[in-house]
Amino acid sequence: MSAPITPDNLTVPRKDVTGKPTLIGLTREAMREALIEMGTPEKQAKMRVGQIWHWLYFKGVTDFGLMTSLSKAYRAELAEVFTLERPEIVAKQISKDGTRKYLLRIAGGHEVEVVYIPEKNRGTLCVSSQVGCTLTCSFCHTGTQKLVRNLTAGEIVAQILVARDDLNEWDNTPFDKRMLSNIVLMGMGEPLYNFDNVRDAMKIAMDPEGISISRRRITLSTSGVVPEIARAGEEIGCMVAVSFHATTDEVRDTLVPINKRWNIAALLDALRNYPRLSNSERITFEYVMLKGINDSDADAHRLVKLIEGIPAKINLIPFNPWPGSPYERSDWKRIETFGDIVNAAGYASPVRRPRGEDIMAACGQLKSETERARKSRKQIAEEAGL
Ligand code: SAH
Ligand code: SF4
Repeated sequence: MSAPITPDNLTVPRKDVTGKPTLIGLTREAMREALIEMGTPEKQAKMRVGQIWHWLYFKGVTDFGLMTSLSKAYRAELAEVFTLERPEIVAKQISKDGTRKYLLRIAGGHEVEVVYIPEKNRGTLCVSSQVGCTLTCSFCHTGTQKLVRNLTAGEIVAQILVARDDLNEWDNTPFDKRMLSNIVLMGMGEPLYNFDNVRDAMKIAMDPEGISISRRRITLSTSGVVPEIARAGEEIGCMVAVSFHATTDEVRDTLVPINKRWNIAALLDALRNYPRLSNSERITFEYVMLKGINDSDADAHRLVKLIEGIPAKINLIPFNPWPGSPYERSDWKRIETFGDIVNAAGYASPVRRPRGEDIMAACGQLKSETERARKSRKQIAEEAGL
């Protein structure tokens, strides 16, 4: 099998629509280097990073002119060289259940979707990591869109910034109640095929002097890129969710084709070794409920047997249909029975209530309508070596 597409060659330089490089998305070290390159004396650079960081990620300013702890001359110099512009919000839709979906335009004219899901005691932002996806899971709308490119770290962070702008949530302390309290990397794309940018972006989101969202409130969902799972634990430290969806290799091969590369046994092995696993830091197994495909009692029993010994919870996701989708959602009764079996084996098995369905914001419905250039599933799968 050929190597999977890790389309670093498709990643554009860190420039926004203005053509100037942005400071958003640079790690502290990279920002220090950028400031030095601009002419900031080396001795001052670390302090400047601290000041700018506060303005960018604590106050949320989008204009160097507002960074009043810096001299006017220095602000002007920064504005000359860098930009802080956000991606353009092309469309914003609010569902009747309060879910908000933003369509953002990024460099190159591409579009990505970001979804904010308010709940009683928290608010979750569902962030995208790629435009499209190289993988071709047969139940996923994003999977029918060819991979256009990886998002830069700046574009991933910008999704959080845009949401906080819209929620008017800047300048608060970690002790304030947050509307945007959690992040899930469950939007478009496979985050572990864009590892470095996802890592840098999440490090920025976690930084205690800025956005300050704890690593335990960040969940990365992967379809099962086995070699990168341990790295996610070590280098990001976030929670991990896995798109499991089937209990035999035969069925998983058809639903999540990456299974042909790394099968269920290999995946479970990687998950068993995920750092810091405990009852308070569990793996989330995502399981999409597809009528007559993976939803039998036998599946439920096999599932609990497979994951034995792994601190886990099972998130049952009722299938969300999209135009032309080849599956049906399992009946509610079936989902309940399946959940009861999993529950009786000692695992929490919450059913993920579809959110924002009326605006096509629910799991697996994301896809930018403007990305028309599509390949056949077969073609994408071949290119991905699957
Ligand atoms: N690419 C990553 C993350 C994005 S998908 C991954 O696959 O894990 C987020 C979750 O939504 C995954 O578990 C995915 O399998 C699920 N999903 C995709 N399409 C869906 C659909 N049509 N209905 C319900 N869930 C879906
Ligand atoms: Fe890609 Fe995830 Fe959709 Fe599979 S489920 S096609 S990995 S976005």
